[in-house]
Parts: sequence; C-alpha cells; structure tokens
Amino acid sequence: MTKRKVCAWCGGPIEKSAGPGRPRQYCRRSCRQRDFEARKRSRELGLAESDLIVARKAMDGLDDLLFVLGCAITDVQGDVALDGSPEQLRRSLDWLLESARPLLGVSERLRGGT
Ligand SMILES: [Zn+2]
Repeated sequence: MTKRKVCAWCGGPIEKSAGPGRPRQYCRRSCRQRDFEARKRSRELGLAESDLIVARKAMDGLDDLLFVLGCAITDVQGDVALDGSPEQLRRSLDWLLESARPLLGVSERLRGGT
C-alpha cells in the first residue's frame, strides 16, 4: 500500500506532480505561502517547531464542542446499556452524529482559515 501524500500545511491530498523535480509538499500555492509565513513568524518569536499558538476564541470553541461530544458519549453509553434495541441504537447514533458534526471543519479553522 502506498501512503498518500498530504499537504504539509492543511493535510489535504496532493495531486501527483507531473514530470521530474522535487515532490510537492503542498496542495496549493496559498498553503505553501501560509506555511512559509508561519515558519518565518515562529523564528521571529523564538518558538520551537512543536509550539502551537491558537487563538483563545478558536480554542474555547473547540473545548465547547468536545464537551458536548463528551456528554453525548456518556448519554449514549448509559442509554445503550439500558436498552440495546435497534431503535435505541439508531437514536444513539443520531445523537452522537449530531453532537460530533460541528467538529467537521474545525481543523481547518484552527489552522487559520475563517
Ligand atoms: Zn494544502
């Protein structure tokens, strides 16, 4: 199995580059630019490669979403332990999905999207 190459900035898939040359590291020019700017800024601030700066608002938002998801997991564990019927499993799955769905796209937002 060949590992699919992903963008060093956004983690999105990279189209295989045509012809010779260095393999691409980014899926698009704007990702390469953002990564370059981030690394430049890190050096200016004396940050290590492993340090991460996240806006408080984004982090609080993520924390809220994870809290909601954690509550849903606890609810579902309890509900399914009491009633393992297909109807209950269906309701539990819906509840889990509803609680997890807001997490879609969070990764991109944390990386400085909108
Ligand atoms: Zn990218």
